Amino acid sequence: MKAPVLVINCGSSSIKYALIPDDGGPRLEGIAERLGSQEALLKAKDSKGQRHETSLPGADHGAALEAIFTSLDGHAPVAVGHRIVHGGEHFTRASRLDDQVIAAVEETSALAPLHNPANLAGIQAARALFPALPQVGVFDTAFHQSLPAHAYRYALPESLYRDHAIRRYGFHGTSHAFVSQRADTLAGSGDHGWLTAHLGNGCSTCAVWQGQSRDTSMGLTPLEGLVMGTRSGDVDPGLHAHLHRQLGWSLDEIDAMLNQRSGLAGLSELTNDMRELEAAAERGHAGASLALEVFCYRIAKSLAALSCALPTLSGLIFTGGIGENSPTVRAKVIAALPHFGLGLDEAANLATLRGREGRIDAGSGPQLWVIPTDEEGQIARETRELLELSA
Ligand code: ADP
Repeated sequence: MKAPVLVINCGSSSIKYALIPDDGGPRLEGIAERLGSQEALLKAKDSKGQRHETSLPGADHGAALEAIFTSLDGHAPVAVGHRIVHGGEHFTRASRLDDQVIAAVEETSALAPLHNPANLAGIQAARALFPALPQVGVFDTAFHQSLPAHAYRYALPESLYRDHAIRRYGFHGTSHAFVSQRADTLAGSGDHGWLTAHLGNGCSTCAVWQGQSRDTSMGLTPLEGLVMGTRSGDVDPGLHAHLHRQLGWSLDEIDAMLNQRSGLAGLSELTNDMRELEAAAERGHAGASLALEVFCYRIAKSLAALSCALPTLSGLIFTGGIGENSPTVRAKVIAALPHFGLGLDEAANLATLRGREGRIDAGSGPQLWVIPTDEEGQIARETRELLELSA
Protein backbone atom coordinates (compact mmCIF):
# COMPACT_ATOMS: atom_id res chain seq x y z
CA MET A 1 0.00 0.00 0.00
CA LYS A 2 1.61 3.27 -1.16
CA ALA A 3 1.93 6.08 1.45
CA PRO A 4 -1.48 5.52 3.06
CA VAL A 5 -3.29 8.22 5.03
CA LEU A 6 -5.40 7.08 7.99
CA VAL A 7 -8.72 8.97 7.97
CA ILE A 8 -10.55 9.11 11.29
CA ASN A 9 -14.12 10.22 11.95
CA CYS A 10 -14.79 10.16 15.69
CA GLY A 11 -18.25 10.24 17.24
CA SER A 12 -19.03 10.22 20.95
CA SER A 13 -19.11 6.39 21.03
CA SER A 14 -17.65 5.40 17.66
CA ILE A 15 -14.62 5.74 15.39
CA LYS A 16 -15.05 5.28 11.64
CA TYR A 17 -11.73 4.87 9.87
CA ALA A 18 -10.25 4.26 6.43
CA LEU A 19 -6.63 3.65 5.47
CA ILE A 20 -6.36 5.21 2.00
CA PRO A 21 -3.36 4.58 -0.25
CA ASP A 22 -1.98 7.18 -2.64
CA ASP A 23 -2.51 5.08 -5.76
CA GLY A 24 -6.31 4.62 -5.68
CA GLY A 25 -5.81 0.99 -4.59
CA PRO A 26 -8.08 -0.86 -2.14
CA ARG A 27 -8.74 0.69 1.24
CA LEU A 28 -8.82 -0.89 4.67
CA GLU A 29 -11.82 0.44 6.51
CA GLY A 30 -14.19 -0.18 9.35
CA ILE A 31 -15.85 1.13 12.47
CA ALA A 32 -15.31 0.73 16.19
CA GLU A 33 -18.66 1.27 17.90
CA ARG A 34 -20.39 1.29 21.30
CA LEU A 35 -17.16 2.60 22.82
CA GLY A 36 -17.20 3.00 26.58
CA SER A 37 -19.50 -0.02 27.00
CA GLN A 38 -18.91 -3.73 27.52
CA GLU A 39 -20.36 -4.31 24.02
CA ALA A 40 -17.65 -2.24 22.28
CA LEU A 41 -16.86 -3.86 18.93
CA LEU A 42 -14.45 -3.37 16.02
CA LYS A 43 -15.86 -4.22 12.59
CA ALA A 44 -13.03 -4.21 10.05
CA LYS A 45 -12.68 -5.00 6.34
CA ASP A 46 -9.27 -6.41 5.34
CA SER A 47 -7.42 -5.87 2.03
CA LYS A 48 -9.25 -8.82 0.45
CA GLY A 49 -12.63 -7.35 1.39
CA GLN A 50 -13.20 -9.96 4.15
CA ARG A 51 -15.07 -8.67 7.20
CA HIS A 52 -13.85 -9.32 10.75
CA GLU A 53 -15.39 -8.50 14.12
CA THR A 54 -13.38 -8.13 17.32
CA SER A 55 -14.92 -7.59 20.73
CA LEU A 56 -13.29 -4.72 22.70
CA PRO A 57 -15.09 -4.75 26.08
CA GLY A 58 -14.83 -1.40 27.86
CA ALA A 59 -12.61 0.15 25.16
CA ASP A 60 -12.37 3.95 25.04
CA HIS A 61 -11.25 5.97 21.98
CA GLY A 62 -7.55 5.29 22.74
CA ALA A 63 -7.97 1.53 23.13
CA ALA A 64 -10.14 1.38 20.01
CA LEU A 65 -7.54 3.26 17.97
CA GLU A 66 -4.85 0.79 19.12
CA ALA A 67 -7.08 -2.10 18.00
CA ILE A 68 -7.66 -0.34 14.66
CA PHE A 69 -3.91 0.10 14.21
CA THR A 70 -3.33 -3.61 14.96
CA SER A 71 -5.94 -4.53 12.34
CA LEU A 72 -4.12 -2.66 9.54
CA ASP A 73 -2.17 -5.75 8.40
CA GLY A 74 1.15 -4.00 9.11
CA HIS A 75 0.41 -1.06 6.78
CA ALA A 76 1.72 2.03 8.57
CA PRO A 77 0.06 5.38 7.81
CA VAL A 78 2.21 8.36 6.78
CA ALA A 79 -0.28 10.87 8.22
CA VAL A 80 -3.64 11.02 9.98
CA GLY A 81 -6.57 13.09 8.65
CA HIS A 82 -9.34 13.88 11.13
CA ARG A 83 -12.88 14.89 10.23
CA ILE A 84 -13.84 17.81 12.47
CA VAL A 85 -17.44 18.98 12.40
CA HIS A 86 -17.14 22.64 13.35
CA GLY A 87 -14.27 24.97 12.49
CA GLY A 88 -16.18 28.18 13.19
CA GLU A 89 -14.64 31.18 11.43
CA HIS A 90 -11.11 30.04 12.36
CA PHE A 91 -10.74 27.48 9.62
CA THR A 92 -11.18 28.13 5.92
CA ARG A 93 -9.19 25.05 4.89
CA ALA A 94 -7.59 21.91 6.30
CA SER A 95 -5.04 22.68 9.03
CA ARG A 96 -2.16 20.86 10.64
CA LEU A 97 -3.13 19.96 14.21
CA ASP A 98 -0.56 21.59 16.47
CA ASP A 99 -1.27 22.81 20.02
CA GLN A 100 -2.49 26.20 18.82
CA VAL A 101 -4.89 24.74 16.27
CA ILE A 102 -6.21 22.22 18.80
CA ALA A 103 -6.88 25.09 21.22
CA ALA A 104 -8.87 26.85 18.47
CA VAL A 105 -10.91 23.66 17.86
CA GLU A 106 -11.59 23.49 21.63
CA GLU A 107 -12.79 27.11 21.56
CA THR A 108 -15.19 26.25 18.74
CA SER A 109 -16.76 23.43 20.79
CA ALA A 110 -19.39 25.87 22.13
CA LEU A 111 -20.84 25.92 18.59
CA ALA A 112 -20.92 22.11 18.29
CA PRO A 113 -21.13 20.72 21.82
CA LEU A 114 -22.18 17.25 20.65
CA HIS A 115 -19.57 16.84 17.92
CA ASN A 116 -16.31 18.73 18.48
CA PRO A 117 -15.50 17.15 21.90
CA ALA A 118 -15.75 13.68 20.28
CA ASN A 119 -13.50 14.82 17.41
CA LEU A 120 -11.02 16.15 19.99
CA ALA A 121 -11.04 12.81 21.84
CA GLY A 122 -9.99 11.17 18.57
CA ILE A 123 -7.25 13.74 17.99
CA GLN A 124 -5.81 13.23 21.49
CA ALA A 125 -5.91 9.43 21.11
CA ALA A 126 -4.22 9.57 17.69
CA ARG A 127 -1.52 11.98 18.89
CA ALA A 128 -0.75 9.65 21.82
CA LEU A 129 -0.60 6.58 19.58
CA PHE A 130 1.25 8.17 16.64
CA PRO A 131 3.39 10.95 18.21
CA ALA A 132 5.69 11.13 15.17
CA LEU A 133 2.97 11.35 12.51
CA PRO A 134 1.60 14.63 11.14
CA GLN A 135 -2.09 15.06 11.99
CA VAL A 136 -4.44 17.22 9.94
CA GLY A 137 -7.95 18.49 10.70
CA VAL A 138 -10.45 18.70 7.84
CA PHE A 139 -13.53 20.73 8.78
CA ASP A 140 -17.13 20.20 7.63
CA THR A 141 -17.63 23.95 7.76
CA ALA A 142 -14.44 25.09 5.97
CA PHE A 143 -15.76 24.79 2.40
CA HIS A 144 -18.60 27.20 3.28
CA GLN A 145 -16.32 29.94 4.62
CA SER A 146 -16.51 31.48 1.12
CA LEU A 147 -20.19 32.41 1.65
CA PRO A 148 -20.77 36.15 1.26
CA ALA A 149 -22.11 38.00 4.31
CA HIS A 150 -25.58 38.36 2.80
CA ALA A 151 -25.80 34.56 2.74
CA TYR A 152 -24.26 33.79 6.14
CA ARG A 153 -25.82 36.51 8.31
CA TYR A 154 -29.11 36.06 10.16
CA ALA A 155 -31.28 39.16 10.55
CA LEU A 156 -30.58 39.29 14.30
CA PRO A 157 -29.00 41.99 16.44
CA GLU A 158 -25.45 42.65 15.24
CA SER A 159 -24.05 41.97 18.73
CA LEU A 160 -25.07 38.30 18.53
CA TYR A 161 -22.73 37.91 15.57
CA ARG A 162 -20.00 40.20 16.89
CA ASP A 163 -19.86 38.85 20.44
CA HIS A 164 -21.14 35.28 20.08
CA ALA A 165 -20.36 34.22 16.48
CA ILE A 166 -24.05 33.53 15.75
CA ARG A 167 -24.21 33.14 11.96
CA ARG A 168 -24.79 30.51 9.31
CA TYR A 169 -21.82 28.12 8.90
CA GLY A 170 -23.10 25.19 6.83
CA PHE A 171 -21.95 21.55 7.07
CA HIS A 172 -21.25 18.53 4.81
CA GLY A 173 -18.62 20.78 3.19
CA THR A 174 -16.30 17.86 2.43
CA SER A 175 -19.04 16.12 0.46
CA HIS A 176 -20.23 19.23 -1.42
CA ALA A 177 -16.59 20.03 -2.28
CA PHE A 178 -15.90 16.50 -3.50
CA VAL A 179 -18.95 16.11 -5.75
CA SER A 180 -18.70 19.61 -7.24
CA GLN A 181 -14.98 19.14 -8.02
CA ARG A 182 -15.81 15.80 -9.61
CA ALA A 183 -18.58 17.42 -11.69
CA ASP A 184 -16.12 20.14 -12.82
CA THR A 185 -13.86 17.36 -14.09
CA LEU A 186 -16.70 15.47 -15.76
CA ALA A 187 -18.19 18.58 -17.39
CA GLY A 188 -14.86 19.86 -18.75
CA SER A 189 -13.52 23.39 -19.00
CA GLY A 190 -15.56 26.50 -18.30
CA ASP A 191 -17.04 28.35 -15.33
CA HIS A 192 -19.39 25.97 -13.61
CA GLY A 193 -22.27 26.63 -11.26
CA TRP A 194 -23.63 23.54 -9.50
CA LEU A 195 -26.50 22.93 -7.15
CA THR A 196 -25.56 19.94 -4.99
CA ALA A 197 -27.94 17.87 -2.86
CA HIS A 198 -26.33 15.67 -0.20
CA LEU A 199 -29.18 13.41 0.91
CA GLY A 200 -28.31 10.89 3.64
CA ASN A 201 -29.53 10.71 7.23
CA GLY A 202 -28.47 14.35 7.37
CA CYS A 203 -29.38 16.36 4.27
CA SER A 204 -28.16 19.65 2.86
CA THR A 205 -27.95 21.56 -0.40
CA CYS A 206 -25.22 23.86 -1.65
CA ALA A 207 -24.66 26.36 -4.48
CA VAL A 208 -21.09 26.09 -5.82
CA TRP A 209 -19.74 28.68 -8.27
CA GLN A 210 -16.24 28.21 -9.76
CA GLY A 211 -15.36 25.70 -7.04
CA GLN A 212 -16.52 27.91 -4.13
CA SER A 213 -19.53 27.48 -1.88
CA ARG A 214 -21.78 30.55 -2.28
CA ASP A 215 -24.73 29.42 -0.14
CA THR A 216 -25.94 26.31 1.64
CA SER A 217 -29.04 25.10 3.47
CA MET A 218 -27.61 24.30 6.92
CA GLY A 219 -26.89 27.15 9.29
CA LEU A 220 -25.53 27.72 12.79
CA THR A 221 -26.26 24.04 13.44
CA PRO A 222 -27.02 21.06 11.17
CA LEU A 223 -30.73 21.44 12.01
CA GLU A 224 -31.50 24.23 9.53
CA GLY A 225 -32.76 23.60 6.03
CA LEU A 226 -34.04 20.35 4.52
CA VAL A 227 -36.23 17.66 6.07
CA MET A 228 -33.86 14.89 7.29
CA GLY A 229 -34.16 11.37 8.74
CA THR A 230 -35.12 12.51 12.24
CA ARG A 231 -34.46 16.28 12.04
CA SER A 232 -37.17 18.78 11.17
CA GLY A 233 -35.12 21.20 9.08
CA ASP A 234 -36.66 24.69 8.85
CA VAL A 235 -39.58 25.50 11.11
CA ASP A 236 -41.07 28.83 12.09
CA PRO A 237 -38.68 30.27 14.71
CA GLY A 238 -41.86 31.19 16.64
CA LEU A 239 -42.49 27.46 17.22
CA HIS A 240 -40.21 27.30 20.26
CA ALA A 241 -42.04 30.03 22.14
CA HIS A 242 -45.41 28.57 21.13
CA LEU A 243 -44.57 25.07 22.42
CA HIS A 244 -43.11 26.49 25.59
CA ARG A 245 -46.06 28.75 26.35
CA GLN A 246 -48.88 26.49 25.22
CA LEU A 247 -47.55 23.04 26.17
CA GLY A 248 -44.99 23.95 28.84
CA TRP A 249 -42.17 22.20 26.97
CA SER A 250 -38.61 22.99 28.08
CA LEU A 251 -35.93 24.05 25.59
CA ASP A 252 -34.23 20.66 25.96
CA GLU A 253 -37.50 18.87 25.15
CA ILE A 254 -38.06 21.06 22.08
CA ASP A 255 -34.46 20.54 20.93
CA ALA A 256 -34.72 16.76 21.32
CA MET A 257 -38.06 16.69 19.45
CA LEU A 258 -36.66 18.74 16.54
CA ASN A 259 -33.47 16.66 16.28
CA GLN A 260 -34.59 13.14 17.14
CA ARG A 261 -38.35 12.75 16.60
CA SER A 262 -39.06 14.86 13.54
CA GLY A 263 -38.16 14.70 9.85
CA LEU A 264 -39.12 11.61 7.85
CA ALA A 265 -39.63 9.61 11.07
CA GLY A 266 -41.89 12.24 12.63
CA LEU A 267 -44.03 12.82 9.54
CA SER A 268 -44.48 9.14 8.66
CA GLU A 269 -44.79 7.82 12.23
CA LEU A 270 -42.98 4.84 10.73
CA THR A 271 -39.25 5.14 10.08
CA ASN A 272 -36.37 7.45 9.11
CA ASP A 273 -35.16 4.91 6.53
CA MET A 274 -35.93 5.98 2.95
CA ARG A 275 -35.96 2.39 1.62
CA GLU A 276 -38.70 1.42 4.08
CA LEU A 277 -40.62 4.62 3.42
CA GLU A 278 -40.64 4.07 -0.34
CA ALA A 279 -41.86 0.49 0.15
CA ALA A 280 -44.56 1.62 2.61
CA ALA A 281 -45.71 4.43 0.29
CA GLU A 282 -46.07 1.85 -2.51
CA ARG A 283 -48.30 -0.19 -0.20
CA GLY A 284 -50.49 2.87 0.34
CA HIS A 285 -49.22 4.04 3.76
CA ALA A 286 -50.48 7.65 3.93
CA GLY A 287 -47.83 8.86 6.41
CA ALA A 288 -44.99 7.44 4.29
CA SER A 289 -46.39 9.08 1.14
CA LEU A 290 -46.70 12.43 2.89
CA ALA A 291 -43.16 12.19 4.28
CA LEU A 292 -41.82 11.46 0.80
CA GLU A 293 -43.74 14.37 -0.76
CA VAL A 294 -42.67 16.89 1.90
CA PHE A 295 -39.05 15.67 1.71
CA CYS A 296 -38.82 16.07 -2.08
CA TYR A 297 -40.74 19.36 -2.27
CA ARG A 298 -38.47 20.90 0.35
CA ILE A 299 -35.34 19.79 -1.53
CA ALA A 300 -36.66 21.36 -4.74
CA LYS A 301 -37.63 24.55 -2.90
CA SER A 302 -34.16 24.78 -1.37
CA LEU A 303 -32.43 24.21 -4.72
CA ALA A 304 -34.60 26.88 -6.35
CA ALA A 305 -33.74 29.34 -3.57
CA LEU A 306 -30.00 28.56 -3.78
CA SER A 307 -30.05 29.10 -7.55
CA CYS A 308 -30.10 32.85 -6.67
CA ALA A 309 -26.46 32.44 -5.61
CA LEU A 310 -25.31 31.28 -9.08
CA PRO A 311 -24.72 33.53 -12.12
CA THR A 312 -25.42 30.53 -14.38
CA LEU A 313 -26.54 26.98 -13.70
CA SER A 314 -24.48 24.11 -15.17
CA GLY A 315 -26.51 21.46 -13.41
CA LEU A 316 -27.74 19.55 -10.37
CA ILE A 317 -25.80 16.87 -8.48
CA PHE A 318 -27.35 14.19 -6.26
CA THR A 319 -25.27 12.38 -3.63
CA GLY A 320 -25.52 10.65 -0.21
CA GLY A 321 -27.30 7.34 0.53
CA ILE A 322 -30.66 8.64 -0.78
CA GLY A 323 -29.29 10.83 -3.59
CA GLU A 324 -27.16 7.96 -4.92
CA ASN A 325 -29.78 5.22 -4.59
CA SER A 326 -33.28 6.59 -4.96
CA PRO A 327 -34.48 7.22 -8.53
CA THR A 328 -37.90 8.00 -6.99
CA VAL A 329 -36.60 10.91 -4.91
CA ARG A 330 -34.49 12.26 -7.79
CA ALA A 331 -37.45 12.14 -10.19
CA LYS A 332 -39.78 13.86 -7.70
CA VAL A 333 -37.27 16.63 -6.99
CA ILE A 334 -36.74 17.28 -10.69
CA ALA A 335 -40.50 17.25 -11.36
CA ALA A 336 -40.91 19.88 -8.64
CA LEU A 337 -38.59 22.30 -10.50
CA PRO A 338 -40.67 22.85 -13.63
CA HIS A 339 -39.17 26.25 -14.55
CA PHE A 340 -35.54 25.11 -14.75
CA GLY A 341 -35.70 23.41 -18.15
CA LEU A 342 -34.51 20.12 -16.65
CA GLY A 343 -35.01 17.00 -18.75
CA LEU A 344 -34.68 13.63 -17.00
CA ASP A 345 -33.53 10.51 -18.87
CA GLU A 346 -35.81 8.09 -17.04
CA ALA A 347 -33.93 4.94 -18.04
CA ALA A 348 -30.60 6.43 -16.95
CA ASN A 349 -32.19 7.57 -13.69
CA LEU A 350 -33.50 4.08 -12.93
CA ALA A 351 -30.14 2.48 -13.81
CA THR A 352 -27.94 4.76 -11.69
CA LEU A 353 -27.73 3.06 -8.29
CA ARG A 354 -25.43 1.43 -5.76
CA GLY A 355 -22.38 3.60 -5.93
CA ARG A 356 -22.54 4.13 -9.69
CA GLU A 357 -21.69 7.54 -11.11
CA GLY A 358 -23.91 8.66 -13.95
CA ARG A 359 -25.40 11.47 -15.98
CA ILE A 360 -29.19 11.25 -15.93
CA ASP A 361 -30.35 14.20 -18.05
CA ALA A 362 -31.84 13.78 -21.50
CA GLY A 363 -29.23 16.02 -23.12
CA SER A 364 -30.99 19.38 -23.13
CA GLY A 365 -31.00 21.98 -20.37
CA PRO A 366 -28.85 21.87 -17.23
CA GLN A 367 -26.89 18.67 -16.57
CA LEU A 368 -28.14 16.16 -14.00
CA TRP A 369 -25.52 14.05 -12.23
CA VAL A 370 -25.47 11.28 -9.65
CA ILE A 371 -22.03 11.34 -8.04
CA PRO A 372 -21.25 8.97 -5.15
CA THR A 373 -19.66 11.02 -2.40
CA ASP A 374 -16.26 10.12 -0.96
CA GLU A 375 -15.75 12.14 2.19
CA GLU A 376 -12.91 9.90 3.41
CA GLY A 377 -11.10 10.15 0.07
CA GLN A 378 -11.50 13.94 0.12
CA ILE A 379 -10.11 14.13 3.69
CA ALA A 380 -7.13 11.99 2.61
CA ARG A 381 -6.57 14.22 -0.44
CA GLU A 382 -6.74 17.46 1.57
CA THR A 383 -4.36 15.94 4.16
CA ARG A 384 -1.86 15.04 1.43
CA GLU A 385 -2.17 18.44 -0.25
CA LEU A 386 -1.57 20.31 3.00
CA LEU A 387 1.45 18.17 3.88
CA GLU A 388 2.64 18.13 0.26
CA LEU A 389 2.88 14.36 0.50
CA SER A 390 2.11 13.86 -3.16
CA ALA A 391 1.44 15.72 -6.36
P1 ADP B 1 -25.37 9.00 6.63
O1 ADP B 1 -25.86 10.41 6.48
O2 ADP B 1 -25.62 8.43 8.00
O3 ADP B 1 -23.97 8.77 6.10
P2 ADP B 1 -26.24 7.64 4.23
O4 ADP B 1 -25.61 8.63 3.32
O5 ADP B 1 -25.72 6.24 4.24
O6 ADP B 1 -26.36 8.15 5.72
O7 ADP B 1 -27.81 7.58 3.84
C1 ADP B 1 -28.73 6.83 4.55
C2 ADP B 1 -30.07 6.93 3.84
O8 ADP B 1 -29.94 6.39 2.51
C3 ADP B 1 -31.19 6.13 4.53
O9 ADP B 1 -32.39 6.89 4.56
C4 ADP B 1 -31.36 4.96 3.58
O10 ADP B 1 -32.67 4.45 3.63
C5 ADP B 1 -31.08 5.61 2.24
N1 ADP B 1 -30.86 4.60 1.21
C6 ADP B 1 -29.86 3.70 1.11
N2 ADP B 1 -30.08 2.86 0.06
C7 ADP B 1 -31.25 3.25 -0.51
C8 ADP B 1 -32.06 2.79 -1.62
N3 ADP B 1 -31.66 1.74 -2.35
N4 ADP B 1 -33.21 3.44 -1.90
C9 ADP B 1 -33.62 4.49 -1.15
N5 ADP B 1 -32.93 4.96 -0.09
C10 ADP B 1 -31.77 4.36 0.22
